[in-house]
Amino acid sequence: MPEWKILLTDGLEQNGQDILRAAAQVDNRAGISADDLLKVVGEYDALIVRGRTKVTAAVFDAAPRLKVVGRAGVGVDNIDLNAAKAHNVIVVNSPTATTIAVAELTLGLMLAVVREIPRADTTMKAGQWIKKELEGRELWRKTLGVIGFGRIGTEVARRAKAFDMEILAYDPLLPAEAIRLRGGEPVSLDELLRRADMITLHVPLDENTRNLLNAEAFAKMKDGVYIICAARGGVIDEEALLQALNSGKVAGAGLDVFATEPPGATALVTHPKVVCTPHIGAQTVEAQTRAAEDIATEVLAALEGKPLRWRVA
Ligand code: NAD
Repeated sequence: MPEWKILLTDGLEQNGQDILRAAAQVDNRAGISADDLLKVVGEYDALIVRGRTKVTAAVFDAAPRLKVVGRAGVGVDNIDLNAAKAHNVIVVNSPTATTIAVAELTLGLMLAVVREIPRADTTMKAGQWIKKELEGRELWRKTLGVIGFGRIGTEVARRAKAFDMEILAYDPLLPAEAIRLRGGEPVSLDELLRRADMITLHVPLDENTRNLLNAEAFAKMKDGVYIICAARGGVIDEEALLQALNSGKVAGAGLDVFATEPPGATALVTHPKVVCTPHIGAQTVEAQTRAAEDIATEVLAALEGKPLRWRVA
C-alpha cells in the first residue's frame, strides 16, 4: 500500500483521524496560516479542510502531489474548483452530515427572533423583568418562504410544518413537481417575496445568489417580514438588510453567517432586532462526528481510486 500523506488544516474529530491514520500518515496542522500552507502543501497527497482554509489557485500550484481536497461539511466556496480541475485534483465534501444541525439551528433562530428569547434572557440576567416589552409573534399559520429547497431547505420545511406554517419554495434548479413532493408550494422569487411572513435562505453562495436579497428584493416584501439566514454570508446585501431593519420593513432577523467572518460588533450584529450566532449551523457533536467519518472515508476512497459518493470537482 502506498504511504499517503494527508494534511488537516482545520482539525477533524478524532473518529475521522482514526480512520485516516489506519491507512495514511496524517499531520494535524489546525489553524495553519496561508503562508505556511503554501510552504508545506507540496509534501501531501490529500488536504482536508473545513470552511476556514482558503484553497486558492496558489495552493494548487504549490502542491504537485495533491490528488484530493476534502471539505468536512458542505460549502465549497473556499475552494477554487476551477484550479482544482486544471490541476486534476478531485474535490469531495460531506454534504449530508450537517443537514439536520443546520435545519435545527434555523428553527431555533426563527423562534428566537419572533419571541426575542436572547433579549429576554439578557435582561433577566441584568436583574430586569421586561415582560410587557416582550410581546412576540407566533409561527402558527404564518407563511414561510424557503429560498433554496435542497437538503437543508427541505428539512427546515418539514419542521416548520409541525408549527402549521405554510411553505412557499423558490428553487429554479428543481422541477415544480420535486418541490411539491418535498412539501413546498413552488413559486417564483417575486411571489415568495410578496407573500412570505418569514423568509429563510438555504442556497449556496455563487454568482447567481450573491446579494440575492438586496434593496430591490426587500422593497417587494411584506412590511414586518422576518429574515433568517444560516446559508452563507454574501447571499444577503447586509447594508440593505440594515436599512430594512431601521425602516421597520424587516421586523427581525436571525443570522448565523456574515459577509465577513468574524464581523465584529457591526451595526447589523448589534442591532436590537437581530439575533446572531457565530456560524454555528453545523456545530453539533453529532454533525461533526458524521462529517469526520464521511470525509475520511471519502478522501481515502479518492486516493485509492474507488467510487465516490460526493465528488464536487
Ligand atoms: P443543497 O445543494 O442540498 O441545496 C441548495 C439548493 O439551492 C439546491 O436545491 C439548489 O437547486 C438551490 N439553488 C441553487 N441556486 C439557487 C438560486 N439561485 N436560487 C434559489 N435556489 C438555488 O445544499 P444544502 O445541503 O441544503 O446546503 C445549503 C447551503 O447551506 C450550503 O450551500 C451552505 O452554504 C449552507 N450551509 C451552512 C452551514 C452553516 O454552518 N450555517 C452549514 C452547512 C451548509
